[in-house]
Amino acid sequence: MSVSAVAADRSVRAPLPVLGRDVTVPLVTGGEVAYAALDYAASAPALQRVWDDVAAYAPYYGSVHRGAGHLSQLSTELFEDARRTVAAFLDCRAADQVVFTRSTTDSLNLLAAALPEGCEVFVFETEHHAALLPWRGARVTCLDAPAGPRQAVDTLERALADRRPHGPALVCVTGASNVTGELWPVRELAAAAHAHGARIVLDAAQLAPHRPVSVRDLDVDWVAFSGHKLYAPFGSGVLAGRADWLREAGPYLAGGGASRAVTRRADGGVDVEWQDGVARHEAGSPNVIGAHAVASACKALTEAGLDALAAREEHLIRTVREGLADVPGVRFLSLFGDDAPRVGVLSFVVEGWDSSHLAAALSAEYGIGVRDGLFCAHPLVRALLGDDPRGRGGCGASGTPGERPRGAVRVSFGAGTP
Ligand code: PLP
Repeated sequence: MSVSAVAADRSVRAPLPVLGRDVTVPLVTGGEVAYAALDYAASAPALQRVWDDVAAYAPYYGSVHRGAGHLSQLSTELFEDARRTVAAFLDCRAADQVVFTRSTTDSLNLLAAALPEGCEVFVFETEHHAALLPWRGARVTCLDAPAGPRQAVDTLERALADRRPHGPALVCVTGASNVTGELWPVRELAAAAHAHGARIVLDAAQLAPHRPVSVRDLDVDWVAFSGHKLYAPFGSGVLAGRADWLREAGPYLAGGGASRAVTRRADGGVDVEWQDGVARHEAGSPNVIGAHAVASACKALTEAGLDALAAREEHLIRTVREGLADVPGVRFLSLFGDDAPRVGVLSFVVEGWDSSHLAAALSAEYGIGVRDGLFCAHPLVRALLGDDPRGRGGCGASGTPGERPRGAVRVSFGAGTP
């Protein structure tokens, strides 16, 4: 079955209802068609249930933590309950903390701001820029793209074994690539990191919406994900994991909520005693609705069963691959091999075609929304396209100014895909 046939078959029901199912778009060929969102890897449509939960709470919301009024107390309860729900969703250890942030990018920047003195960071060049770029104060070792999961672990082990002196170190790795959808050997990478005295943070932006994530089982030190990729609205994210580095670091944002006591000194300055715990990094009035929405999505996905959703996505991926295989000159992007396990994300190029034109044609002629370009993973996409990622400045380089970068087309699915 072709991509358009998959998208157009409205008789098939999605496992979880999402918003936007009734949106129709005009076609250049005339008429209208139901919009087919195949861009879940960028932002997933909100679940109907998440929206309903938010709407049910909306008339009652109030500012959390410091209010004595009933609605403030209700909101505080809901906010802290959301933290517990997320901790359960991620199967966190008892001592782990869940900090609410704005996004995965925000979560990883928070961790970057909390790195201990002299911490080295190890990151594969294949990462999304949100995982590649936040570590500005640290010495960053950018590891070569591996050709398979075993090579990823070997590459990391070699790099960690070579480091001198043996100070604090952090490995940042994705659970599932936003370009190829391929699953990374997180448990093995965590074991390698720990064997060499390093810690590891899992970028679960693409993994958490598609597969169960257990902090305990994977033995990772932190996990980051974004609400808007997990069927919740924009502006909510999570950093969950160990408390110590966060406790020892200065607050990510300075302000109310992060401060326990503030006093004016005789010399005119101000002394601050910062909070311990999550409040230290949640200054300002928090996004209670966002946290509530994320928790609602976590519950919905747990009830639907992420394993069942994964099996369905694998079927969708196979269907689209088979449909596209008949297109002359099509090539799928893959690091670990075409048959490597992946979440519902698939990127491809078609020889002789500009990817932006293909994406525009899918939208204008079929009402299918996909993404094209380098997907905020420039070194990876360039390597997969056969360009030299290091030739243009290496890890995190954004390309030569003015040059039109080549790119790919990405199709991605989720629980709302029929
Ligand atoms: N990590 C991966 C693997 C992603 O795919 C993305 C977004 O596409 C991010 C991090 C950044 O997420 P956000 O833009 O929500 O911060």
